[in-house]
Amino acid sequence: MRHNFRQTFLLLLTSIILLGGCRSIDRTRREMHIPRYVVIFSFDDGPNVHKDTTARLLDILGKYNIRALFALLGENAEYSPELVRRIRDEGHYIINHGYGDGWVVSMSKSEFRENLRRGEAAITAALGEELRHRLYRPQGGYFKKKHRRIWKEEGYIMVTGTARAYDAVIDETGKNKVRHRIIRTIAEQRGGMILLHDARDSHLRMERELEKCPEGEFNRSWIPEVTEEIIIRLLEKGYRLNGFDIPGLLDIES
Ligand SMILES: [Zn+2]
Repeated sequence: MRHNFRQTFLLLLTSIILLGGCRSIDRTRREMHIPRYVVIFSFDDGPNVHKDTTARLLDILGKYNIRALFALLGENAEYSPELVRRIRDEGHYIINHGYGDGWVVSMSKSEFRENLRRGEAAITAALGEELRHRLYRPQGGYFKKKHRRIWKEEGYIMVTGTARAYDAVIDETGKNKVRHRIIRTIAEQRGGMILLHDARDSHLRMERELEKCPEGEFNRSWIPEVTEEIIIRLLEKGYRLNGFDIPGLLDIES
């Protein structure tokens, strides 16, 4: 008991130190100027070829005619350039999520700029053209003021989120929990931007972790299915799921 208390205390203390001066990407629907009953989907860390996760997700979004945001890792864009092009060709927005999925908060200014630029270079190489929208989302959803200055200098707008279920650290057994939490947050805010993960870190790390634990949190193959369940429920409740028809929706900086 005493040991547990000490562990919890140390964990709390470490988190406070690590996150000190930190800002989170989490915003409310109102802060993001998303109109009521409008919902936007966003997916981090892809593209992911494992069990055709990203391809199946694109099939589902296409089935319901939904355009989403994909925060791509440069490392994974290099590995699956055809999926990057498919995301663009099917009308989705591409966000630069950096080259690797390192923890932004601990990055120096030069490391951060390098990660951002390498991410852009890898995505544009896969696309064969420049990014149409200079959108960025930090890894893990946290950043510091010094990082914000850099992405602005590089001409980027940061894309936040309003509804997340920390699905990146949840495996398929927690699927219902993820679905409930997302739907509950959207209902509380009457709309917003959903954040889910169709991949988890670089393909190399995914392969290593999947070898150790095939059904662990690096297996994202259930994400397309849970996305479809969320879509069906939100459509039943009367939400609009293609918020990009609204001009200027992403033209904000939080
Ligand atoms: Zn990430």
